[in-house]
Amino acid sequence: MLRTNPHYARMGKSYLFAEIAHRVAAFRKAHPGTGVISMGIGDVTQPLVPSVIRALHAAVDDMGSPDAFHGYGPEQGYAFLREAVALEYAARGVSISPDDIFISDGAKCDLGNFQELFAPDVSIAVTDPVYPVYVDSNCMAGRGGTWTEHGWSGIRYLPCTAENGFAPVPPEKAPDVIYLCSPNNPTGTALDRASLGEWVRYARSSGMLIMFDSAYECFIDDTEGDIPHSIYEIPGADEVAVEFRSFSKSAGFTGLRCAYAVVPANLKAGGKGRLHDMWARRQTTKYNGCPYIVQKAAEAACSPEGRGETAAVVNIYRNNAALMRGTLNALGLTVYGGIHAPYLWVRTPRGMDSWDFFQFLLDRAAVVCTPGSGFGPSGEGYARLTAFSSPADTREAMTRLTDALKQA
Ligand SMILES: *Cc1c(COP(=O)(O)O)cnc(C)c1O
Repeated sequence: MLRTNPHYARMGKSYLFAEIAHRVAAFRKAHPGTGVISMGIGDVTQPLVPSVIRALHAAVDDMGSPDAFHGYGPEQGYAFLREAVALEYAARGVSISPDDIFISDGAKCDLGNFQELFAPDVSIAVTDPVYPVYVDSNCMAGRGGTWTEHGWSGIRYLPCTAENGFAPVPPEKAPDVIYLCSPNNPTGTALDRASLGEWVRYARSSGMLIMFDSAYECFIDDTEGDIPHSIYEIPGADEVAVEFRSFSKSAGFTGLRCAYAVVPANLKAGGKGRLHDMWARRQTTKYNGCPYIVQKAAEAACSPEGRGETAAVVNIYRNNAALMRGTLNALGLTVYGGIHAPYLWVRTPRGMDSWDFFQFLLDRAAVVCTPGSGFGPSGEGYARLTAFSSPADTREAMTRLTDALKQA
């Protein structure tokens, strides 16, 4: 019989979203006709902007024309898009070579795939709570050890709590790799220039690699604190950090699929330039590139017109988040995040644990959240609410939530 990867056997089911779906289905069955509002899943709801739609149509026509047809593209992405992305960095004073930008069909895939370049026994650290992809992809590669009630024995968890302002502190002993996500999913908080600078200094002195996920960079509110949009705003970060970005949340591409990784040739971890060369080798071997049509759409999202239109959409979600923050604060709840990110990290009230609060919101308000405990041990006692619903659904959800909490 074929022997399968033993590390998958230890993974178990993806319990969190399956359990949520199960509980929501049970509620719907018991309360037919009650509209359930989901503030649980991190997916956008607004349609693509007009300049992106126009670029898609034009690119489709290209594909039907003998002169403009495109077959296999460059695995690293078309130069037109890599140059457009480099210009976006330049607009923030960051110099990135288009040669260091690798276009892909998703930051989730890039973040999951990149660990292939590490030796099997490197030490991995993540923040807690955490975006599960960082942990699961390393466990599938055998770096997890065994599962315990405190998480995986082979992964180092750095607690992010209200006490440390959800900003992880570099540990005494450096791991080989740390995953940082800012603005953060799930806590909705962001690392300021001082704390990100501390991580870069620590990486430079210890040789640690930083895997920096800035998928929510477009949500940063520049009027509230000093939050870098890119880790490369910190001098010297190009020698220690890979940055992952996506058009998913910034331009509504969750269904279209386009993202990129910046893997600088200057990176020192693993030997100078080695990770850059290995990632190029990996992508050319296992990947044939993001579709031409989609890359043209992404290019349009980077144009001045596209940027204006997508910023207006991001503002819709930002306004939802502000309404949610205001409502929850007025109810006396303790709320974090929601300023630089579309996520609110809400302390569960009245001694409820994460799942109690989930069930309370579902039963009393027909609103779905995500229990914080699903993101790691330090998520217990919190719930994540997303601002990605429509403004009308967001208002309705806040009204129901207010009634539920006042009655209870
Ligand atoms: C949504 C999200 C991404 C982007 O994933 P895509 O595959 O590009 O859609 C990356 N990181 C985090 C933490 C996210 O929430």
